Amino acid sequence: MSRAKLKDLIETKPPEVPDHPPCAFCGSEKTEFIALFGQFLLVSQYYCHNCHSAFEWCKWQDEGGNVKRNA
Ligand SMILES: [Zn+2]
Repeated sequence: MSRAKLKDLIETKPPEVPDHPPCAFCGSEKTEFIALFGQFLLVSQYYCHNCHSAFEWCKWQDEGGNVKRNA
């Protein structure tokens, strides 16, 4: 596998992961995707440019912000 392809895999996020989810701390949408996997496999890591905090976004949250429990 080429280095470019590997880089592509690492930096490409799946479509179900939002580009700019609201910050967990301040609610700002000035957020940036930084990593597909956080501390747990079901979260992605984001950085908030408003309050300069990193936070984790659960991939299985619904639009109301509740974790789906019907899996
Ligand atoms: Zn914030």
